[in-house]
Amino acid sequence: MDTVNPPANSMPVPKINIRTMAREDLAQWLEQYNEPHFRAKQIFEWLWIKGADHFDMMTNLPQSLRARLEESFVFHIAEVDIVQKSQDGTIKVGFTLHDGRTVEGVIIPTSKRITACISSQVGCSLHCSFCATGQLKRDRNLDFSEIVDQVRGLNELALDQFGRGLTNIVFMGMGEPLLNLEEVFRATEILTAEEAMNMASRRITLSTVGIARGIRKLAKRGSKFNLAWSLHAATNAKRAQIMDINKSNPIEEVVDSIKEFYAHTKRKVTLEYILFQKFNDSEEDARNLIKIAKEFPCFINLIEYNSVKGVSLERSTPTRSRRFLEILTDNGLEAHIRRSRGHDIDAACGQLAGKKQ
Ligand code: SF4
Repeated sequence: MDTVNPPANSMPVPKINIRTMAREDLAQWLEQYNEPHFRAKQIFEWLWIKGADHFDMMTNLPQSLRARLEESFVFHIAEVDIVQKSQDGTIKVGFTLHDGRTVEGVIIPTSKRITACISSQVGCSLHCSFCATGQLKRDRNLDFSEIVDQVRGLNELALDQFGRGLTNIVFMGMGEPLLNLEEVFRATEILTAEEAMNMASRRITLSTVGIARGIRKLAKRGSKFNLAWSLHAATNAKRAQIMDINKSNPIEEVVDSIKEFYAHTKRKVTLEYILFQKFNDSEEDARNLIKIAKEFPCFINLIEYNSVKGVSLERSTPTRSRRFLEILTDNGLEAHIRRSRGHDIDAACGQLAGKKQ
């Protein structure tokens, strides 16, 4: 770890990553050296608009201040490391963090949109049985700068590869965003700030396995983000077989929290439902799903499963998937089948596992 030179006989003081400092924290730090307030704005701009990665770049700051910053802070930047391209245009990117850990992000291009799927944690503590990330243990939460770095890195790559920047962001990569909610909020503040990345909140989706407490927090903040609930089975008994989280957050409790979310935000929720062959794709399963979906305004995404090593669940056949979809739409629900993308590079839903690790 980088340290500040200590006075004789005292412990070295660790340097702080300047990219985790909020603007108000910077202002406070500057105050002790009688620096004017506008310096905080200048430093913020260097960090989040101009993408500075060392203090010498901050040429509108006096040399003495740059030296002082250098003494107290370091830059931790998540660097693009491995880039893999799928035959269908999907790109998976491995990011190396300052401590050598790795997370993954994915770019999914279509004719209308370029979506970035990003991670919120290194590994995951929830161990959903069908998910490659769940086979890793949760190592640590990402800080907000590491989340923003993924978006910046993927945006640059999208501009380079497709001549267009990102249009949408989904927190659907490694980890559960609602278990790292404060850092996710701080990241979205930068992503949506007019003077930084200026993305509309409605272009950002938080995808959760259903943490009722976190959803209620989103509701209370009146967040204008989209919410997606990874449901994947429509009864508690069946869901608990594949998702441990259902034991502490049963379906009824999550449904109540989503109703609260809708009451505050008026935003339709997306239900994500992976179709597993002969596990959750019967007519009875569809009818159980309809009961949940009628509780609040929603869209349903039926997702094609991508095999994960060591997992016995399999993708539903096209016939069973089509029949399942038909039952939902015949009952007046808005649903469609989401085709799997990037599975040849293990970039599809549930396949991110930071293989380098
Ligand atoms: S599906 Fe999401 S919450 Fe479940 S193990 Fe995978 S990353 Fe974690």
